Amino acid sequence: MITDPALPLIPGDEELHIRESVRGICSSFGPRYARECFEQGKPPSELWQQLAEKGFVGANIPAAWGGGGMGMSGLQIVAEEAAAAGVGLLMLVVSPGIVGSILNLQGSEEQKERWLTGIAAGTTKIAFAITEPDAGTNSHNLRTELRRTADGYRLTGQKVFISAVEDADALLVVARFRDQDGQLTKPCMCIVDVDAPGFTRERIPMPYIGPDTQWTLFFDDVEVGADRLVGGQEGGLAAVFDGLNPERIMIAAQCNGVGRLALEKASTYASERVVWSTPIGAHQGISHPLAKAKIQLELARLMTQKAAALYDAGAPAAESANMAKYAAADAATQCVDTSIQAHGGNGFTLEYGVSDLWWAARAMRTAPVSEQMILNYVAQHSLGLPKSY
Ligand SMILES: Cc1cc2nc3c(=O)[nH]c(=O)nc-3n(C[C@H](O)[C@H](O)[C@H](O)COP(=O)(O)OP(=O)(O)OC[C@H]3O[C@@H](n4cnc5c(N)ncnc54)[C@H](O)[C@@H]3O)c2cc1C
Repeated sequence: MITDPALPLIPGDEELHIRESVRGICSSFGPRYARECFEQGKPPSELWQQLAEKGFVGANIPAAWGGGGMGMSGLQIVAEEAAAAGVGLLMLVVSPGIVGSILNLQGSEEQKERWLTGIAAGTTKIAFAITEPDAGTNSHNLRTELRRTADGYRLTGQKVFISAVEDADALLVVARFRDQDGQLTKPCMCIVDVDAPGFTRERIPMPYIGPDTQWTLFFDDVEVGADRLVGGQEGGLAAVFDGLNPERIMIAAQCNGVGRLALEKASTYASERVVWSTPIGAHQGISHPLAKAKIQLELARLMTQKAAALYDAGAPAAESANMAKYAAADAATQCVDTSIQAHGGNGFTLEYGVSDLWWAARAMRTAPVSEQMILNYVAQHSLGLPKSY
């Protein structure tokens, strides 16, 4: 059902309160905490717990399942504020953002009771695994397979770059059915516990992106109960796509937060640092690139809010979610790059923490969907141009 999309251009009291509260909690941990978690390979559990206790990690989940009932418009605010405080959490993107949205639309009542209430409360965390080493961007080529057995299914295959598995209770895995003739057929989704026999994982060494880690996953004949199939036998790729618009909105929000933090640091530094007769921020070579980045950032924030409002209203949101993700990743990259430049040599020190923002912004020009694939989408769907692949 489509309701009238609402896009408040002036934040109301509730939004301001959420922003202030999330910012307060996240700032009390701060970027140093996030980096320590990454370096020590430990999940940011203390931060997650505080956000969960206040109801922020389930902000998007309907109240009927214990969530905040604020839709993606609410959750994207939480993601933006966390990132603006220097503690962007990919678990927020994957568990309530992607998996919560899919379960809300595709889960059975039993699955919602079993999983969605925990996601809403933040006590259950579920990572999302679609990317495969050989299929890459082409999800029609997925090779991870689900085979029917007498009492359920068996899962075999490999996934790569899967975020936040170290802190997850389970994974929502996108696979394909193998039929009785041995053919791989439709995409499907199932929930697998992280301690399921036959499931193993390897950490992928990555630069600092945030506290969460990326993993290669191996499923070797993992038993999957019939009650773990999400979206049923017929769900297919359409069911998977129910999680992809929220994913794009959440990544856009996180990039918006990173961009804000980078510009905040740059403005402070460039107002105080004097090497000639005026602060360096008075030189237009420094101020104009920062001002341009600020304009791009505000445009990206607006598109992110539009995408969330459309999604929450049940209206088509793919075009604006894609555009928001593209614009926000691009704006965040500009914000961080110009901030590094404004900081001179200090832009590279861990003390100033600006270069720490680089991969959090830059990686999102590639993940979860690359900018080339978004341009392909816009060219084909918004402009009606022919497809080349
Ligand atoms: C930090 C990080 C976190 C991630 N977290 C997750 C996660 O939690 N779960 C998950 O499932 N995945 C995750 N990913 C994977 C991510 O979604 C993929 O890396 C991304 O979709 C690109 O796929 P690929 O790496 O296989 O690139 P490829 O598909 O190999 O593409 C390589 C390049 O070719 C370009 N290209 C491919 N096809 C076309 C085309 N038709 N036209 C133009 N250009 C094209 C791409 O745009 C890209 O630039 C994560 C990745 C990163 C970096």
